[in-house]
Amino acid sequence: MATRATVGLRLKDHDHHHCISDAIARAEMLCQRNGARLTENRRRVLELVWQSHAPVGAYEVLEMLRKDGIRAAPPTVYRALEFLLEHGLVHRIETRNAFVGCPQPGQAHAAQYLLCDGCGDAVEIEIGGLARRIETRAAELGFAVATQTIEARGLCSRCQQSAPAGA
Ligand SMILES: [Zn+2]
Ligand SMILES: [Zn+2]
Ligand SMILES: [Zn+2]
Repeated sequence: MATRATVGLRLKDHDHHHCISDAIARAEMLCQRNGARLTENRRRVLELVWQSHAPVGAYEVLEMLRKDGIRAAPPTVYRALEFLLEHGLVHRIETRNAFVGCPQPGQAHAAQYLLCDGCGDAVEIEIGGLARRIETRAAELGFAVATQTIEARGLCSRCQQSAPAGA
């Protein structure tokens, strides 16, 4: 299990196989708890979303499946992604129309994202109380918030180091 402390440190060099196996283990536990079925197809799609920390689009997932010799119809992939979204196993990165695995599913949270323009990685962070403050301020204005999307773009530490000096 990834602990809260590892969230936000994921862009550093690490053994990504652990990220994938942890994600699958968490998904199995969560589905069992929710009485939901992590079918072979759903599990495979989750694995593909977790291939990296960069968000992937539904079409890319479809392409990866095809490369594995699995002939999946687009609706199958969309339905699997919907299931994963519904159970909080993946999040949707709105500005990229893509999906990324959640490192802490099973806990209600409103996440914010750091999106790297260099390598494409997305890091989920959770600023305590931020979502609530937005809701409170919105309510003062008589606005009912349905969803919040907070995505910050920039360069991760690794990409800053590899950027040419003076650039
Ligand atoms: Zn990783
Ligand atoms: Zn999350
Ligand atoms: Zn980067």
